[in-house]
Amino acid sequence: MQNRYAIEQLIEAGVWISQKGWVPATGGNFSARTDSGFVVTASGYDKGQLAPEHFLQFDCHGQIESGTGKPSAETELHLSIYQLVADATCVLHTHSVAATVLSRFIKSDTLTITGYEMQKSLTGILSHEETLQIAIFDNDQDIEQLAEKVALRYQRNPLYHGVLIRGHGLYAWGRTPSETRRHLEGLEFLFACELERIKLEATL
Ligand SMILES: [Zn+2]
Repeated sequence: MQNRYAIEQLIEAGVWISQKGWVPATGGNFSARTDSGFVVTASGYDKGQLAPEHFLQFDCHGQIESGTGKPSAETELHLSIYQLVADATCVLHTHSVAATVLSRFIKSDTLTITGYEMQKSLTGILSHEETLQIAIFDNDQDIEQLAEKVALRYQRNPLYHGVLIRGHGLYAWGRTPSETRRHLEGLEFLFACELERIKLEATL
């Protein structure tokens, strides 16, 4: 996709994601793979009010080509996901309450989800009887190190749809911006359901 189209898609996604309450206080970041490299949101802007000047353009090797502002520290993780997942063209990273809390509550390195019709919102999942395995990584301010951990895990077991960062949020990806939005919305719905289920079961 062309840079201009990619930026338009991410601005539109930002308005929607912001309305959902998944990127509070300028949190989160978005990116897309383009014909010449990648576009990524610059750090520190309200993701519901993005404009073209709030994006940085990187070449295929991750070097800044144009744009002003500070690249988000998490840009490294976006670029790493594009390297690992050959057909990913968009990554949406959010800081929702459900993703933040659930990833802290689950102590293991995998969130297992089964039994929900909405699992079918994720490409390749055909039944509520399938089991989703969403990898959880401990949060790390050293993003290079975090990206390495994601890469190592991916080499052992390919990751699909998205990953959780503990106490932090979700990185969702897809083959198009609209597929990525569907994966993001589907996963956020499932996280919210799991959180409600865990709370209810604790009261029984
Ligand atoms: Zn983040």
